[in-house]
Amino acid sequence: MPFVTRFAPSPTGPLHLGHAYSALLAHDMARAAGGRFLLRIEDIDRTRARAQWEDQIYEDIRWLGLTWDAAPLRQSDRLPAYHAALERLWERGLLYACDCTRRDIQSALTAPQEGGDPAFGPDGLIYPGTCRNKPRPEKMPESAALRLDMARAIATLNTDTISYEETGAHPQTVITPTPDLISTVGDIILSRRDFLGSYHLSVILDDAHQNITHVVRGQDISEATQIHVLLQQLLGLPTPCYHHHRLIRDATGKRLAKRDDARAIAKYRADGASPADIRRMVGL
Ligand code: GLU
Repeated sequence: MPFVTRFAPSPTGPLHLGHAYSALLAHDMARAAGGRFLLRIEDIDRTRARAQWEDQIYEDIRWLGLTWDAAPLRQSDRLPAYHAALERLWERGLLYACDCTRRDIQSALTAPQEGGDPAFGPDGLIYPGTCRNKPRPEKMPESAALRLDMARAIATLNTDTISYEETGAHPQTVITPTPDLISTVGDIILSRRDFLGSYHLSVILDDAHQNITHVVRGQDISEATQIHVLLQQLLGLPTPCYHHHRLIRDATGKRLAKRDDARAIAKYRADGASPADIRRMVGL
């Protein structure tokens, strides 16, 4: 079986030890399988992405000794593909425009008639559906947030479950009953008001475009994978194998974040660490 994987950082800050682990692991798995290791720059959020961080990504992973097998794919070059996929979903009646602010959502969910505590899904509060039944224009609006109508999406799939192969710490076939997605995920945003597309939409379109067979990424994203499989099925795309790896944590057990500059690869390098030291630090 071919093995094509990718490392897909967002250029919104310095790469830290957690990114190093993800990139090294994906690269080593590809090389061990005689497969391909690709790069993708997830710069869809133009308000946060910076050219400076993209340059630093190439520098850091080159320094780590990694090589990649094709020109990197940039999400900012893929907007027409995201637009086309949104149009397909819009034409099938699976999207609706939403102009709720975070505060609108919060107050709808805490209104006394709702009862119980508001539920959280992989994207935060589960949307209460305020805009779902508003009149729909025939043409997809160009500068509105677009949500997936989860109940309709599931109804078009004609299947009670979706599943994917997980090869990480606990190899298994992960099966989700589709009706559960209404209460555990809800009507997620597939295109944001401030930029075309969303993480969930672009990641599945790009994985398919790059012919990714194995997605190697952190455990923190594993909850979103059921959303990715659902979208792949809606758009007729293949589902890769998923390998969700352990997270690199700081001394207090907290997962590293972009703002943890102290653990930036560039900082260790400036302090005299070698790529072999970095491998040791992340337990490889
Ligand atoms: N861009 C995401 C990140 O930097 C990775 C997404 C993925 O691997 O699917 O965390």
